[in-house]
Amino acid sequence: MTAQIIDGKAFSTQLRSRVAGHVTRLKEEHGITPGLAVVLVGDDPAPEVYVRNKGRQTIEAGMNSLEHKLPTETSQADLFALIEQLNSDPVIHGILVQLPLPKHLNADLVINAIDTAKDVDGFHVSNVGLLGTGQNAMIPCTPLGCLMVMRGHLGDLSGLEAVVVGRSNIVGKPMAQLLLGDNCTVTIAHSHTRDLASICRRADILVAAIGRPEMIPGDWIKPGATVIDVGINRIARHGKQQLVGDVDFSSAAEIAGAITPVPGGVGPMTIACLLANTVTACCRANGLPAPEGLTL
Ligand code: NDP
Repeated sequence: MTAQIIDGKAFSTQLRSRVAGHVTRLKEEHGITPGLAVVLVGDDPAPEVYVRNKGRQTIEAGMNSLEHKLPTETSQADLFALIEQLNSDPVIHGILVQLPLPKHLNADLVINAIDTAKDVDGFHVSNVGLLGTGQNAMIPCTPLGCLMVMRGHLGDLSGLEAVVVGRSNIVGKPMAQLLLGDNCTVTIAHSHTRDLASICRRADILVAAIGRPEMIPGDWIKPGATVIDVGINRIARHGKQQLVGDVDFSSAAEIAGAITPVPGGVGPMTIACLLANTVTACCRANGLPAPEGLTL
């Protein structure tokens, strides 16, 4: 193996420690405790574990964590009423509605009902617009974490050729916007892209956000490239359940200069960025300057 393994856990530990430091200062100097509300609709066990992790890490960082678990059959009106209540609650600085929602609920309308200032996932159409126009947006957690890792690993990204495979609203598109903001030359690829292999081979930075296990082999990677694997796929191998990314790690690690593993790459940064966004939202809500090192 030639590639350097980028340690996302170490990056996330550093970020969570900066978050905790800011939380302590907010409490001691201003008597304010940042609060994050997470809304989970339905009883699917996978998001439930993720929500539990969020709650635990929020409390470990010294913040208040509120969880609202609603039954699958919750109506849109009842969900709106809860969001309205959280929007007007002064002790709540961040609101996250766990996606996906049950099919009878309109996720776009629900997300756009969240106060933009409390939209710590950065999915509200106003925050999407602010990010797209290079203004002060709340940045979606996964791409924010990826960019922090890239800057930490590569320093200045100006002029680098970046290829983002995947164009979802929560990962691919905001990732491409952030890379553009950092002066990369950006290509976004998707399921209709022709000759994906040769497009990937151009990339100094290759971001895979596809949701297809080990789809990108080593011979699609430019020698020395930095590979950021966002994919989280559960597969059965040798009779065991295993988590793998969208990149074939073993062949990619022979060619890339650096690569994020799955698990332990960008995954841990997502929750750390959620905590960071909550502290940023809390500071803004209280007219305090943006805290150092928590956003871009
Ligand atoms: P989506 O399913 O919303 O988007 C997948 C994207 O990949 C689409 O744009 C799709 O193209 C594209 N795609 C699918 N198949 C191909 C193909 N054969 N060739 C090229 N492009 C293709 O997924 P998400 O963006 O939500 O998530 C992507 C991955 O990242 C998943 O594995 C998910 O679990 C993971 N994830 C990880 C997070 C973390 O914390 N680390 C957070 C969020 C997601 P098209 O638009 O044309 O359909």
